[in-house]
Amino acid sequence: MKTHVRVLVIGGGVVGVSTLYHLTKKGWTDVALIERTELTAGSTWHAAGLLPLFNMSYTVGQLHKYSVDLYKRLPAETGQDVSFHVSGNLRLATSRERMDEYYKYCGTANTIGVPFEIITPARVKELWPLVELGGSSETAAIIGALYHPDDGHIAPADLTMALRKGARNAGAEIYEHTEAQAIARTVSGEWQVRTSQGDIIAEHLVLATGNYARQSGRLLGLNVPAIPVEHQYIVYDESPELKAYRQGGGRELAVLRESDQSYYLREERTGWILGPYEKGAPARFADGVPDWFGRSLFPGDLDRLVPYVEAATRRVPALENCGIKDIVNGPISYTPDGSPLIGPAWDVRNVWLNEGHSFGITAAGGSGWQLAEWITEGEPGIDMLAVDPRRFGAYTSKRYVVKKNEETYRNVFTVHFPDEERPEGRPAKTSPVYDKLNAKGAVWGQRYGWERATWFAPPGVERRDQWSFRRSNYFPHVGNEARLMRERVGVIDLTPFTKHEVTGAGAAAWLDRLVANKVPTKIGRMALSHALTPKGGIRSEFTITKIGAEHFYVVSAGAAERYDGDYLLKALPADGSVRLRNITNSRGCFVLAGPKSRAVLAQLTDTALDNDAFPWLTAQVIEAGFAVDVYALRVNFVGALGWELHFPIEYAHTLFEALFEAGQEHGIGMVGMRAMESLRMEKSYRMWGSDMTPDYTPFEASLDRFVRMNKGPFIGRAALEQQLARGVPNRFVTLEVHGVTDADPLGNEPLFDTQGRIVGRATSGYYGHTLQKSLAIGYTQAQFAEPGTPLQIEILGERKQATVLRESPYDPDNLELRA
Ligand SMILES: Cc1cc2nc3c(=O)[nH]c(=O)nc-3n(C[C@H](O)[C@H](O)[C@H](O)COP(=O)(O)OP(=O)(O)OC[C@H]3O[C@@H](n4cnc5c(N)ncnc54)[C@H](O)[C@@H]3O)c2cc1C
Repeated sequence: MKTHVRVLVIGGGVVGVSTLYHLTKKGWTDVALIERTELTAGSTWHAAGLLPLFNMSYTVGQLHKYSVDLYKRLPAETGQDVSFHVSGNLRLATSRERMDEYYKYCGTANTIGVPFEIITPARVKELWPLVELGGSSETAAIIGALYHPDDGHIAPADLTMALRKGARNAGAEIYEHTEAQAIARTVSGEWQVRTSQGDIIAEHLVLATGNYARQSGRLLGLNVPAIPVEHQYIVYDESPELKAYRQGGGRELAVLRESDQSYYLREERTGWILGPYEKGAPARFADGVPDWFGRSLFPGDLDRLVPYVEAATRRVPALENCGIKDIVNGPISYTPDGSPLIGPAWDVRNVWLNEGHSFGITAAGGSGWQLAEWITEGEPGIDMLAVDPRRFGAYTSKRYVVKKNEETYRNVFTVHFPDEERPEGRPAKTSPVYDKLNAKGAVWGQRYGWERATWFAPPGVERRDQWSFRRSNYFPHVGNEARLMRERVGVIDLTPFTKHEVTGAGAAAWLDRLVANKVPTKIGRMALSHALTPKGGIRSEFTITKIGAEHFYVVSAGAAERYDGDYLLKALPADGSVRLRNITNSRGCFVLAGPKSRAVLAQLTDTALDNDAFPWLTAQVIEAGFAVDVYALRVNFVGALGWELHFPIEYAHTLFEALFEAGQEHGIGMVGMRAMESLRMEKSYRMWGSDMTPDYTPFEASLDRFVRMNKGPFIGRAALEQQLARGVPNRFVTLEVHGVTDADPLGNEPLFDTQGRIVGRATSGYYGHTLQKSLAIGYTQAQFAEPGTPLQIEILGERKQATVLRESPYDPDNLELRA
């Protein structure tokens, strides 16, 4: 056994072996994998092997697409068959909401180039003769379906062996019956792994331990939010009808998914495999996998399966005539949002996670591909924010993860509305004024564990969302909140913002190297700044305010607390010249904005608020009411006269009361997240995570004014120089979408030129309530970005005319901000 390698992968399931394989593809061949028992002994051996291309996520969709393509060419490359049956996948719909979901998915599929068809019930019957189209009181009528002709199912163990062969051929080592038991840092900063067969030292560690993620995380002091849930499928005996159909020359039936009944069905020799995502499936191994489990399965729970067997039998009556051969009930890893954890671990250097896979057979290829790129090149090739392990934070307590994972599992097949807010594990984190917002009718959503008011139900209006892909019950109320902000004065509680304090003699120079904008040199100045990846993509957005001589206040997105915190921490200089403190939870933030905001704030403070004394884009430390040490930043995300008030958290209640008391005569009111979305869209303000991602440089995002190429070196600058020399390929656009009556763009819709060619994608969209326009923002090839350019956008399967607008269609000259 080698005692020193560049990368050590821990875990020999399909995901670990794929990571190893892809590292060798990147030319890193001094790599090894250890497996505590035998390859595939975890969840991989008992997986049903389905490879669905369908995924609502732009990122995960790309990973799955890569996998399916790879698995088709792997046998030729390695000489190992993988039993890939390209049977296709058929997803049935029995409701309009389900069809909306499929149409929404089609936008994502079109932008990433996944082939699909939306088909009629008649075509369903043609493709799947044994299906009942329904229409009785017992079985709902199929109204359409989504068909993927290019995917199907594979033999997971054979796939793992093919990847193993590929990795070994390139020089990688694999050691079975070798368990990682302890991990320590060496003096030189490498990782020393004590295994059951001796020590191995590695520069980088990859954890790909499936159901063991909690245990292996603990070896490094990490609380990994991946806990398995029981997952079952039934293996049926021979089906006479299926046999007759196949003997009659019928081709292999597509994997059938009746999403509205939460099961899938596929051929297995001349019988079937039926797999439901049941209600009541429990999370297991929250404290780790016990020693006795090994390669075992759980006993089958037929009671839990019965409703799904019945539903499937109504849809495919042939099931009635075959007996049950076996029930497979195994642990399947889950995370609170159902997506895997692929990327760097937080707080520790050179540790990478490839964990939490619930569709690990499908995702193994893509996750190995991107993780290997990340390890060897320092960043992934595509936007991986949706799967980055740091999208979760310290709030993922064991109970939270158990509740969320069980909820995610039972909702795998429910309609995923864009505005859904699932109830489990809530409320977890609340702002101090949570009860006050409740009293004002808040309808809550959740992000990064925080409760956030999405809108406020006026007296007499039910405090509930009707989730939809279209305009829904809250639409008029969100409109009222948006108008309140534009016409009078509103308050948004943005306490969840991520807040860091950066101090020390080296603070200014250090920040300056991290971001593309110039860090403010004068106290009271602020700069919207972007930290870039080495390839020039946007990794983070920070509002940096200079509070004191060697003191900066750095604010970023609430959901980026761990993502940004980890980045800043790992970038700190070793000489102690910079101190970094995460003060997210010790400061709250209220946005006070609207034409009357100055009049309201003036009643609370003696600080002069006129334009000369307190101009736009400046900050002062003020007293407001009884609150002291309030950082008042004259900026906001809604494009109105106003201030973000960042106050010591203990003043939350009194400051809130004082604002509302002072604002009463001006008609002050609360504004929720959805109205903020509408208002920021009217100003073309880009949102980190959707409109600003590593996929686009700040030049593509048309953020040129926040990039100082002549200020000296900063991360990403060389890549930007190259891009400028070659020409900026894409540009940010704001679009007015015409003819929308009830379904506004929401992001991930393809954009077409007048010839019908895809020339870009929308990254966000919403109805601009005060402009009364349906708006989208996103990216097109540069030649289509001129104001006035006619384009088309596909919303829920319909092509709509759209026109490129001048940026910031509301108040383009920022007169209100400067008022
Ligand atoms: C019933 C069922 C059906 C499924 N069907 C499908 C499907 O159709 N399609 C699909 O895409 N997915 C399916 N899945 C999910 C799929 O099985 C998993 O996502 C996938 O196998 C995960 O692979 P992995 O490599 O991450 O984990 P695993 O296969 O569990 O591998 C992890 C490995 O790490 C090893 N290990 C752990 N700790 C250590 C240590 N300290 N030292 C050394 N080695 C260690 C373990 O022994 C294990 O072999 C199904 C799951 C279940 C339960």
